[in-house]
Amino acid sequence: MDERRPSPPRAASATLPPAQVAKAALHRLALSKQEPTPENYAAAYAAESGAAPPAAAEALPERVQALMNKLMAIGVADAQSRLDINKLLRESRWDEALRRLEKLQQSEGPGAQAEAMAALMERMVRGLERGGRQWTVARKKDGLQRVLASNRSDPQRLLARLQQLVRSWDSDVADASIDTQFDAGDEEEPGGTPSQFFTDSEFGTDLDAAAPAPAAPAANNSAALQAWGAIGGSLQGTVEHALRLPESDDAMIGELLGQLQAAQLELSIHGADASRAEAMEALCVRARRLLDHRHHVFGALGGLCRELSASLVELAEDDSWAHGQCEAMNNTLELGLSARGVRSVAEMLSGTRERQRALREERGRARDSLKSLIHKMLAELGELGEHTDRFQHSVGRYADVIEKADSLESLAGVVREMVEESRSVQSLVQQTQARLSAEHDKASSLSKRVNELESELKRLSDEVQTDQLTQIANRRGLIAAFGIEQAKLERQSDQEPSQLALALLDIDNFKKLNDSLGHAAGDMALKSLAERVSASLRPGDMVARYGGEEFVLMLPNTPLDEAQQVLTRLQRALSMALFMHEGKDVFVTFSAGVTPYRPGETLEAALDRADVALYEAKHTGKNKACVAP
Ligand code: GH3
Ligand code: MG
Ligand code: MG
Repeated sequence: MDERRPSPPRAASATLPPAQVAKAALHRLALSKQEPTPENYAAAYAAESGAAPPAAAEALPERVQALMNKLMAIGVADAQSRLDINKLLRESRWDEALRRLEKLQQSEGPGAQAEAMAALMERMVRGLERGGRQWTVARKKDGLQRVLASNRSDPQRLLARLQQLVRSWDSDVADASIDTQFDAGDEEEPGGTPSQFFTDSEFGTDLDAAAPAPAAPAANNSAALQAWGAIGGSLQGTVEHALRLPESDDAMIGELLGQLQAAQLELSIHGADASRAEAMEALCVRARRLLDHRHHVFGALGGLCRELSASLVELAEDDSWAHGQCEAMNNTLELGLSARGVRSVAEMLSGTRERQRALREERGRARDSLKSLIHKMLAELGELGEHTDRFQHSVGRYADVIEKADSLESLAGVVREMVEESRSVQSLVQQTQARLSAEHDKASSLSKRVNELESELKRLSDEVQTDQLTQIANRRGLIAAFGIEQAKLERQSDQEPSQLALALLDIDNFKKLNDSLGHAAGDMALKSLAERVSASLRPGDMVARYGGEEFVLMLPNTPLDEAQQVLTRLQRALSMALFMHEGKDVFVTFSAGVTPYRPGETLEAALDRADVALYEAKHTGKNKACVAP
């Protein structure tokens, strides 16, 4: 015994309740600077409770006692059971100690542990398959990793922690307002939310009290918290982007965005807790509702467009200039509401509208001129009428004068006057006649022009299948031709697999060509390329101008490798100068994406795939064709 040790304090009254005796025993241990081993504690407890120190304690040799402690640390998981058995051993109550051990073996032995482990695994797998309101699948995985990382060294604690975690998953209920607090009846139970679990369990005092906090997991936690902050910020940005409408200052969205920002800021500064998670969830529910509504409006708008274009086709008279456009719009919209499709309809409508506006203006001007000419002619005729009226009146007057004339001389004077007046009327009539005939000619040519302009307007509508610049099919022409090809494939589907290849071509560095040689040279390049490609294709193949400097090749009965060869051949054909500009050769190259058409899919879907291959060709050096199988 250590002589310097202070004398132990007086024993507490034997009548004290056990909890106070236990507290006094701990106090005694602390004062005497003894380690809180079960034996020392038992001795201190005995001293405090006034009971005689266990007589047998001294009977067990110290080395045997140490050995027993070690054995029990390995074999008996529960601390209280260890304490109890130790006490029985000290008191030489061997049979009781053995019975206690056997009982423990039944409830805690390897079989029981395997059973507990299996049950835990089952619950865990089920839990991981099922997302919760607070414990989403991602949060569950994160929680699992955190528990595994911080409890690797102690299997007993790991098991207990995992059981706690799974209990927390299971108590995550659909309505967060029901279960965000501790269950008063079971203080060991962590809350049903991730933040409660980590606050109450990971950093709580129940299980970790005896073990020092491991350093590495703590570092992991702060890194994880930082990462969560970044993810939260990024998600907040995404939600904001999804909600904000371009050119709109919807007050409701503005308010929600403000609240989301504030909630995210608070989360990043103070971290997550149950009430912040709940507030964020409520805001997310509101955002989801708004987005759902917007999707609904978007779908309804698509339906409205389709209805409108379908009814316009029916309403527009067959020979009206609007008919062709309505039909083109209808065809494109029938392929579905894709960005490419909507853009193409908008481009087509705006292009034809511009040209039609110019034509209509000219037609209006020609009509106005015709109208004013007719007015002028009417005025002239009226004027002529006035003159002839006056002449008629004069003729009547001259008749009177002639009847009353008494001399030849006076008669001659009247006749002279008459001749003069009739001459002037005659010349007026002649002049008017000449003018009227000139104006008639002008009116005829104007009305001819009006007719020409009318028919050009109609032709423009009919011509929406042909690209005006290159004179090859445009997008509408391609859609029509593709429809025919698709129908053929459907008919032959039972015999051979479809072999329709589609390629999307895009001229390389075309902007540079426009910038350096001018827009007219750019147009020339487009025309010449279309000519050269058309000339080198086989009958049955088709090239269409799909957009600015994009072309589509449709190659029926062509396996993919052959299609790629067609493109290589075209690329070789372009190694010769395309045309001359100001005495210099102009060379043009293109990149392409080729894909086989898959039966049943839309043209857009196949072209989207070809677009991916085209993108690859552009980003791996240009002037080549890549394949999207
Ligand atoms: P990349 O090799 O990556 O395809 O580059 P690019 O310059 O060809 O492609 P970008 O899309 O940047 O430029 C396409 C240019 O084509 C821009 C546009 O002015 C021009 N363009 C589109 N349609 C016509 C047209 O009808 N005539 C002319 N002259 N130019 C056109
Ligand atoms: Mg392009
Ligand atoms: Mg280009």
